[in-house]
Amino acid sequence: MPEKIFVFDTTLRDGEQSPGCSMNLDEKIEMARQLDRLGVDILEAGFPIASQGDFDAVRLIAAEIRRPIIAALARASELDIKRAWEALQEAARPRIHTFLATSDIHLQFKLRKTREEILKQISFAVGLAKSFCPDVEFSPEDAGRTDRNYLIECCHAAVEAGASTLNLPDTVGYCLEPEYEKMFADVKARVPGMERVILSTHTHDDLGMAVANTLAGIRGGARQVECTINGIGERAGNAALEEIVMAVHVRRDVLPIFTNIHTEELYASSQMLTRLTGVAVQRNKAIVGRNAFAHEAGIHQDGVLKNAITYEIITPQTVGMPSNQIVLGKHSGRHALVKRFEELGYQLTKPEIERAYEQFCRLADRKKNIYDEDLLVLVNEGFKDIPEMFSLKLFQTVSSTEGRATATVELEKEGEMFHDSATADGPCDAAFRAIDRITGIPGTVVDFSVHTVGPGTDGVAEVSVRARFEGKEFSGKSTSHNVVEAAARAYLMSANKAAYELKRAHLSASAAGSVHENEFVDRFFPGGY
Ligand SMILES: [Zn+2]
Repeated sequence: MPEKIFVFDTTLRDGEQSPGCSMNLDEKIEMARQLDRLGVDILEAGFPIASQGDFDAVRLIAAEIRRPIIAALARASELDIKRAWEALQEAARPRIHTFLATSDIHLQFKLRKTREEILKQISFAVGLAKSFCPDVEFSPEDAGRTDRNYLIECCHAAVEAGASTLNLPDTVGYCLEPEYEKMFADVKARVPGMERVILSTHTHDDLGMAVANTLAGIRGGARQVECTINGIGERAGNAALEEIVMAVHVRRDVLPIFTNIHTEELYASSQMLTRLTGVAVQRNKAIVGRNAFAHEAGIHQDGVLKNAITYEIITPQTVGMPSNQIVLGKHSGRHALVKRFEELGYQLTKPEIERAYEQFCRLADRKKNIYDEDLLVLVNEGFKDIPEMFSLKLFQTVSSTEGRATATVELEKEGEMFHDSATADGPCDAAFRAIDRITGIPGTVVDFSVHTVGPGTDGVAEVSVRARFEGKEFSGKSTSHNVVEAAARAYLMSANKAAYELKRAHLSASAAGSVHENEFVDRFFPGGY
C-alpha cells in the first residue's frame, strides 16, 4: 500500500527570503492561491516576527486559504512564538514551526550557548507553542552537521514537549545521500514516541543534491518534504517541489509513495513565480524549464513526432506545459519543420515548404538552435524592410502600488495620429492593450523575454516578443533603457508585421476574386489600397 508524502511548501518563507525573490503582500497572496490550487498539504506563509510585511502576509493568507495547513516560522523564543501565533489567529488549520540550531558550530559561533542550555530552550519553546497550537513542528537547524547522539536528545526533548512534526534540515546543503538517510533512520529508531510524529526533510542544493537527499530522507522514514517552487531559496536554493513530485510520480513503479499534488498545475505555478519575482529558471531546468520537453536531434524529433513516449518520460501535458517544443537544428527534417510552422499558424504550400526548407538548412549551418523567432523570420522574409505601418510617437505608463497600470500610446500612420489608453495588471500588458485598441488587431503574447545588454543597472534592455494575431505568430524585438518601452516597441513591431500580412493576404484574396469582409482592412485600408 503506497504511503502518502506530505508536501510542505516554503516558497513564501525560505524561498522568498533569498536574494531577488522578495514579493509584496498582493503577490504573496496570489502565489498562495496558486499553491492551494497545486494541492500543497502545508503552506509556510512567512516568518511573522521578521517584519510587519511578513506578519501581514501570514495573517491574510491564514484568513483566506482554508484547505492546507498554514505554517508560520518562529525562532525558539517567547516573542517569536507569540507573534507567529498572533498571525495565525484566523487560520483554519494553523501550525507553529519553531527552530533552534543544534550543531556545535552554530552553538559555539552563533548562539554562544551550551548543549544543556539549548536542550532547555527546546523544551520551553516547543511547550509554549504547544500551549497555543495543537500542531507544532520543530527543526533542529543544521541537523545534518549535529552530533548524532546530541541530535537524538534534542529530538527527544521536542517530542516530549509536544512536537508532532520533526524536521531535520540539511541547512547548508552538505550531506551526502547515505548520511542524510541514516540520520532519519537513527532518529526514527532511537527517539521514543516517534510513532506519533511525522519526520520531515529540508534540503538545500549547494552540492546539487537537494532533491536526491529529499528522496534519501524518505527512504530513511520521512513522510513530509519541505521544498519550493523552481527550487528558489538561500544560496543555491531549496529542493525543487516540481522535481520531487515528478520523481515520485514517474517512478511510482519502484517508490511505494505518492503525493496529492495536482501535477498539471506545476508549470502554471512555476510561471507565476517567475512573473511575480522576475527570476526566471534556466532553459534546461528539470520539469519546468523552457527546454525540458524540447528535442533537437533529428532522430529524437522524428521519434517524438511519431510517438512522444520514445524520448519522453513525462508528457508536457502532465505538468501543464502547453505543448512539447521541438528545437529545430540542422538535424531536423522537413516533417518537423512543417509541423512547427503549422503550430505557428502557417500552412505552407509544397513550393513554399521547399523554399523554407532550403533557407532553413542554410540558416542551420550557421546557427545551432533554430527557435520559433528564426522560423518566423524565414516565413516573414521581407518584413524587416517594410515601412512601419504604425510608428510609436508617444508612450507613457503609470503604475500603482496596487499592481494596476495604465498606458497611453500615440501611434502615427501615414501622417495621421491615433492615441488611446488601456489599463491592465502590469505596465507592459497595459501598453500592448493600448496598441491593440489603435491597430484593431488584438494580439496574444505567447513569448516574452528580456535580456540586459551591458553590466549593472544602467544596462540596456533587449526585449523579444512573440505574439499571435488572427491565428498566426509574429515576432518583434527592440532595445531601450526603459524595459516597458522596449516591450511596447517590440510588440508594435510584431503588430506591424501582422497588419502587413493581413493586407497582403487580403490583396491576394481580392485578386483571386474571393474577397470577404474584414474589420481590420475596412478600418485601415478604406476604399482599397
Ligand atoms: Zn532552508
